Amino acid sequence: MTNKELIKKAAALIKPKKMKDGLCADVGCALISEKGKLYLGVCAATGSNVICAERVAIGAMITNGEYKIKKIVGVWKNENGDVFVPPPCGNCRQFMREIDETNLENTEVVLDKDKSVKLKELLPYYDWWKKQG
Ligand SMILES: [Zn+2]
Repeated sequence: MTNKELIKKAAALIKPKKMKDGLCADVGCALISEKGKLYLGVCAATGSNVICAERVAIGAMITNGEYKIKKIVGVWKNENGDVFVPPPCGNCRQFMREIDETNLENTEVVLDKDKSVKLKELLPYYDWWKKQG
């Protein structure tokens, strides 16, 4: 699946819902697992709890017994419907790494329709312990 197609799938999930202290579903995530299956998620921020779209999609993948991500994208739309592709937050980067260390090398994080980077490129010094002694 191309970056553009994956971005389109994530964008289609976005249906913002405001609530008392939060906003849900204004970010969508689409990921392809190593086995080639598509998993989707939206964010949920309620004030006291925030869970990113990425971790919701990854949770669906884990629920299905998979831990290896081939390609992932998060998408946000502004009130004019313009589509943006923010990189995953630090929590999500670390989470992707911790569920399977091989994701560092094998997970392609989409940053644009024409640009992706490996997860490890978003986690500088991820191998710090190997540099000691
Ligand atoms: Zn996140």
